[in-house]
Order: sequence, then C-alpha cells, then structure tokens
Amino acid sequence: MTDCIFCKIINQEIPSYKVYEDDKVYAFLDITQVTKGHTLLVPKEHVTDIFEYEPALAGEVFARVPKVARALEKAFPEMQGLNIINNNKELAYQSVFHSHIHLIPRYGESDDFSIHFGNNQAAYSSESMQEIAEKIMKQVEQ
Ligand code: AMP
Ligand code: ZN
Repeated sequence: MTDCIFCKIINQEIPSYKVYEDDKVYAFLDITQVTKGHTLLVPKEHVTDIFEYEPALAGEVFARVPKVARALEKAFPEMQGLNIINNNKELAYQSVFHSHIHLIPRYGESDDFSIHFGNNQAAYSSESMQEIAEKIMKQVEQ
C-alpha cells in the first residue's frame, strides 16, 4: 500500500532498525522502545488488522513470534517476561493500520509498561456467560 508507513519500511523506502526478515515477515525495533528491545513483527503483505487475515497468513506470522521471542530472551538475559500485544482499530490503541505484533520485553515491575485487566466477574451470572459463549460460538467460521 503506497501511503502505509510499515509498507515503506518493508520496502526500505524509510529506515528502520531491522531485527529479522524472511519472505513472509519483517521485524524491527519500535521507535518508542517502551522497554529495551521492544520489537514489531509485521506481515510483508499489507493487512490492516486481525479481521483481514487469511488463515495461512495468520499461521505464517504467528509461527515467527516464538523465533523473535527467543531471540529477545537470548539477547537480553536480564529479561524476566514478555508481553505480546496486537492492537486492532483506533479504540484499541491501533495507530498504524498495517497489522503488527508488539513484543515487549519485561525487566521489572517498574519498567515503562503497564496493562490493566479489570475483573467484572461479579457482573455476569453463569447463564449470561453461557449466553455470551453461545453467541460467539455461532459466529465462528467453519
Ligand atoms: P499501534 O499503536 O499498536 O498501532 O503501534 C504502532 C507502533 O508503531 C507504535 O508503537 C509506534 O511507536 C510505532 N512506529 C510508528 N512509526 C514507526 C517507525 N517509523 N519506526 C518504528 N516504529 C514506528
Ligand atoms: Zn502496509
């Protein structure tokens, strides 16, 4: 896609700090470095977000995640954990509309990353949980 910043990075039209590349994916340092080694893994094929993936491309991209994760772990033995994040659509904090997976190494509780998981368990009866699960299940592509 011509005006996509990540397509331009993949095509070497703008610079990046490359971490890994093969025929299907490109991985490079996120410019913000939320934590040291913060890496973005992107499919070379332009897909906007998770909703656009064909199964084969999803498999090809996810197959590379452990490869980059292990490289980070080896490069930074002081790493204590790794958050893998994929934001989809603006409300969910997607700011670049070429799908990408963030790999964010974690070094301690006071590193510069945080995420909030609320707990609304008390608001859902087992009947409503069952209803929600069935609603989703009916929509899963066969
Ligand atoms: P998201 O907000 O999930 O869409 O993530 C997009 C990420 O792309 C942000 O973390 C940005 O810091 C990063 N980013 C944007 N432009 C560049 C660039 N030219 N090189 C590296 N990272 C970038
Ligand atoms: Zn693109």
